[in-house]
Amino acid sequence: MESATHAAGVVDRMAAQLRHAGLRPTRQRVELGRVLYAHGHRHISAEDLHAEAESAGVRVSLATVYNTLHQFTEAGLLREVAIDGTRTYFDTNVSDHHHFFVEGEGHLIDMQQGVGIGNIPEPPEGMEVVAVEVVVRVRRKR
Ligand SMILES: [Zn+2]
Repeated sequence: MESATHAAGVVDRMAAQLRHAGLRPTRQRVELGRVLYAHGHRHISAEDLHAEAESAGVRVSLATVYNTLHQFTEAGLLREVAIDGTRTYFDTNVSDHHHFFVEGEGHLIDMQQGVGIGNIPEPPEGMEVVAVEVVVRVRRKR
């Protein structure tokens, strides 16, 4: 078990991080943030975070988890990676990087190197390219 002093330090750091990002450190945000960032860089769905929060004794609804994840994303604390219309993952690594998506297992792996992309079409009139995000779908060899 972690000591009470250590736990308080983690809460303080999470609260400071939220404030720094412009979010009020409500109890739910701090608690969810602790569960979210307890495992280093990772990709997690709202459903999985909700399940982890419940087993950590944090009582929140799935809707609250969704709202909190979107607030964290808007504040720049998370990056949202949408694989298709139905699957969205939240990435605690907000740096620019691309992903492998493992089909059949449903998880993302960070690419360790950049992707050479040529011939990006000119954006429509009056628009500028913000980012190019690549998801390469892979599966285990049979
Ligand atoms: Zn990632």
